[in-house]
Amino acid sequence: MKVLVVNCGSSSLKYQILDMSNESLLAKGLVERIGIEGSVLKHEKTGSEKVAIEKPMKNHKDAIGLVLEVLVDETNGVIKDMSEISAVGHRVVHAGEKYSGSVLITDDVIKALEECIDLAPLHNPPNIMGIKACQQLMPNTPMVGVFDTAFHQTMPSVSYLYSLPYEYYEKYKVRRYGFHGTSHRYVSQRAADLLGEKPENLKLISCHLGNGSSIAAVKNGKSVDTTMGFTPLEGLTMGTRSGDIDPAIIKYIMEKEEMDISSTDNMLQKKSGVLGISGVSSDFRDIEESADKGDKRARLALDIFAMKVKKYIGAYMAEMNGADAIIFTAGIGENGITIRKSICKDMEFLGIKIDDNKNNIRGKDTIISTDDSKVKVLVVPTNEELMIAKDTVEIVSAL
Ligand code: ADP
Repeated sequence: MKVLVVNCGSSSLKYQILDMSNESLLAKGLVERIGIEGSVLKHEKTGSEKVAIEKPMKNHKDAIGLVLEVLVDETNGVIKDMSEISAVGHRVVHAGEKYSGSVLITDDVIKALEECIDLAPLHNPPNIMGIKACQQLMPNTPMVGVFDTAFHQTMPSVSYLYSLPYEYYEKYKVRRYGFHGTSHRYVSQRAADLLGEKPENLKLISCHLGNGSSIAAVKNGKSVDTTMGFTPLEGLTMGTRSGDIDPAIIKYIMEKEEMDISSTDNMLQKKSGVLGISGVSSDFRDIEESADKGDKRARLALDIFAMKVKKYIGAYMAEMNGADAIIFTAGIGENGITIRKSICKDMEFLGIKIDDNKNNIRGKDTIISTDDSKVKVLVVPTNEELMIAKDTVEIVSAL
């Protein structure tokens, strides 16, 4: 079965087509600048050079149309015709409290996702646009929605409720939802495989460290807590997002700087995090380079980031009464050798010891802890698209 995986942003669209008979990637690509001058599709057929196709695309339907064209193209394509695509899996950010797993997309599902727009105003509208565009162009192909929030729906109320008047939860559904669920689910299943155990028998701490970062406490295969909250702004220090701060700072800075709500929100989302602290960049490679040259604020940004991750690892070990393994994934988790080392430093008392030689790797499934480390530490490259495709196959096969 061949599955197309689609992930729509406001002006971008990422896609992969996978042959699920052997879970192989046939092609992947990215459309950028949808609805803006200079729209371009960058397509890479597995084993071939990347090609760029520039063509005006005024909306997501145009973009999907071009993706389908290139997929059947004689030179760059990987399928003979569109009927070879058995199903489409869509990444959707927010499904509120409605879905705790992936579902076949129906009109009711789209309605439910539209009701969540308030909760994810930047993400859900393009996700829904992508679904509708695919439905128009492939009316007979089943579509599946895979939600970032779904995996965390198993969190108990002690983890998801904020210490605010309870009525805000009842009236407005203000609570912790958590994100990166598809990634946390994928890497925790993969880690269980690597450890030769069933997820049901493990307590795992999954650290997804990328531009956006979050940690999940995964007990017996279920998410029991996570650092991102009502929105993806809470929790760890991120590339440009503040993560946890004292909420009273907001009013204080707004008054001092005479800022309105939207510029304050922009500051917290886009100008904070390691970019805000270092003043150098949101990219960890740039920050590490500056820190190595002696830039003190760059060093501080890295130290603050590592300390925050360490803090939550400790918190989640306390919450779960220990952990069997800690998993590092996403751009920084998979590649950040020195960051992993500084996160795991001085945690021997918790049974966490990493082996510097084993840690000297990037982007591959590996156990990086010492043989006598009570808590195993793993690097597991994430693969959200494969997880989306697997869910899609499972749901479509049962139809
Ligand atoms: P996104 O959240 O956008 O998917 P990624 O998971 O791709 O982000 O992570 C991007 C981050 O990973 C960037 O900050 C980048 O600097 C970092 N990263 C990538 N490669 C390395 C590396 N070799 N060393 C340290 N950080 C890295």
